[in-house]
Amino acid sequence: MEKVYNTGSSSAGKSDTLATVNRRRFLAQPAAAAAPFLQAAQTGTRPNLKITDIQVFPTAVGNRNLIFVKVLTDQGIHGIGEAYSCGPDEATVKVIEDYKTWLVGQDPRNIQYLWDLMYNFTRFPGGSVVNSAISGIEHALWDISGKAAGLPVYMLLGGKVRDRIRTYQSAGGGEPAQVAEAAKRLIEKYKYTAIKMSPHMAGTNSRPVNYVTRMAGQRVRAVREAVGPDIDIGVDIHAKFFEVTRAIRMAREIEPYNPMWLEEPIRPENVDAMQKLSEHVEIPLASGECNYTRHEFRPILGAQCLDFVQPDICVCGGILEMKKIAAMAEAAFVRVAPHNPMGPVATAVNVHFAASTPNFFILEYHPDDTSPRKDILQEPLALRDGYIPLPTKPGLGVELNEEYIRRNPPKRWRRGFEFRADGSVGFI
Ligand SMILES: [Mg+2]
Repeated sequence: MEKVYNTGSSSAGKSDTLATVNRRRFLAQPAAAAAPFLQAAQTGTRPNLKITDIQVFPTAVGNRNLIFVKVLTDQGIHGIGEAYSCGPDEATVKVIEDYKTWLVGQDPRNIQYLWDLMYNFTRFPGGSVVNSAISGIEHALWDISGKAAGLPVYMLLGGKVRDRIRTYQSAGGGEPAQVAEAAKRLIEKYKYTAIKMSPHMAGTNSRPVNYVTRMAGQRVRAVREAVGPDIDIGVDIHAKFFEVTRAIRMAREIEPYNPMWLEEPIRPENVDAMQKLSEHVEIPLASGECNYTRHEFRPILGAQCLDFVQPDICVCGGILEMKKIAAMAEAAFVRVAPHNPMGPVATAVNVHFAASTPNFFILEYHPDDTSPRKDILQEPLALRDGYIPLPTKPGLGVELNEEYIRRNPPKRWRRGFEFRADGSVGFI
């Protein structure tokens, strides 16, 4: 037996209650004796499902980690998901493990209810760690729901509105000629109809403004000349600027080469600044990878300053939350181009979102045809002529290769720091 403090409210005049419960019962009955949970009545023809366990699989891939989630049930059906690797990944793992104690015993198909439970009872609006944890668990609940229904997840989201998912990949390279060559090679190999690139040479934070602006023009021109007039080119400033005028100067430098969009042209915190920027730039604007939930997208979409929103399904709150963001975007005549730099489970989750979302535009993609990415799943979704055909299996349609993941434990990592020439801290 152990004592579990159940703090019902912090309001003055209400004292905390003290419940004494058996630890096994505490773990089996989520959130201790906190609230009357949804009653377990049979829904449909299938027996009830109950969550019995939630497991987390962080694994080192490249220069960072990927974090996979597995939710198990009493009927032998399990689901998988992927949480964003924000940086302090141990924290994300701990939050998922804490949520497990709230969710065990619940029917995994009550997805909105369980999302509310995680979000509302966290009390403080989550940042990247909490929203990543919620997102990864939520994906797995959809996977279970699809498997239980015998349908791909997109068939539970209103059905499919397209047969295949358009993708693009980012081309790297230090010099303009190198990024141009990389873009050309990727298009030849994977038949992409769009490509993305950074306008930055090394040292954007420490170089004079004029150099940074001029070299951006040279880089985009080199890629445009290499790929021809009809390939769409996304240009990603990566929120390295916060001055509107600086982003405007760069936009004017690259406008002659007809970019598909200018991504994160300034930091995401100031919607007024983004709106001012949009009034001075002819290139379509894209942003949203650093924003969470419908609540953060409401002012952005309300300002009508973006042409594309780029929520990340591993951190924005999950599939249902991204569907809500997409619906808000649709009403604002804005299309959705999901941010997707994580692993192959994230790609699969995005495919189900994109399959069922009318204003989806294009998906960021990393090929899963070489190790280590190809080893993470038993069978990753395939790319065909720059598009991913829709999976047809029940659920998400992919399964983890747990043996490989267990052999590759997570590691401590951090993003590279960048300082300005005077020693002050830049943006990355
Ligand atoms: Mg980006």
